[in-house]
Amino acid sequence: MSLTIENLHASVDGNEILKGLNLEIPAGEVHAIMGPNGSGKSTLSKIIAGHDDYEVSEGRVLLDGVDIAKLAVDERSRAGIFLAFQYPAEVPGVSNANFLRAALQARLPEGEEIDAVAFYKNMYAKMDELEMNRKFTSRSVNEGFSGGEKKRNEILQMIMLDPRYCLLDETDSGLDIDALKVVAKGVNSMRSENRGFLVITHYQRLLDYIKPDHVHVMADGQIVKSGGAELALKLEESGYDFLKTA
Ligand code: ADP
Ligand code: MG
Repeated sequence: MSLTIENLHASVDGNEILKGLNLEIPAGEVHAIMGPNGSGKSTLSKIIAGHDDYEVSEGRVLLDGVDIAKLAVDERSRAGIFLAFQYPAEVPGVSNANFLRAALQARLPEGEEIDAVAFYKNMYAKMDELEMNRKFTSRSVNEGFSGGEKKRNEILQMIMLDPRYCLLDETDSGLDIDALKVVAKGVNSMRSENRGFLVITHYQRLLDYIKPDHVHVMADGQIVKSGGAELALKLEESGYDFLKTA
């Protein structure tokens, strides 16, 4: 079981951004991606999730061996992909509770209704875990949320949807240290042998709390270096200068 990216080439408006990227995330593992701004990290996460701004010209995205490249974004979500966005969108007029409920309802077989009492009970329990005030249930999704509140809300969605593969794009940016610990606890509580994580970050700080099994460096649309957790520490110390001399 794995999320596997094979020789992925993708472009936006005719500019090639991903240039033959390979990555395998076996279920049970946490992989971190670091790399300079503009190297294509967010593009990779959005392409896996099915964002239609990007044109995939070559390569495959395999979820447990099945190519999902042709699936629409909602089908990928139901297949078990979840993306916590670097810049979460605001959805005015849709309450957080209704949004989550609709997303979960969409996962049920035709004709089956979500149990409202159980849903609220579960949502409140998860919000307590994430130390989120209940007032966030009735507020419109992300509307007027602070940067940190948006990131925490992404993690609430992730925990509620219970995905197979979780993609986190700079979830740590905008979080203060207490919020970071809470979010990391939420992520760590989801770690299991049946679930894989791709964690995009610039900072070792997040990886102090979410320990990665593998760390990859992305530059100019490719993975240029891979290693263990110690690679992130090395990068923190020496930066990406080695890319220029390589
Ligand atoms: P990273 O997340 O590593 O900082 P991105 O994946 O956001 O990098 O962006 C990689 C490159 O692709 C950047 O040069 C960015 O400007 C460009 N890019 C990404 N998405 C779009 C888009 N929708 N339209 C135009 N250019 C884009
Ligand atoms: Mg990015």
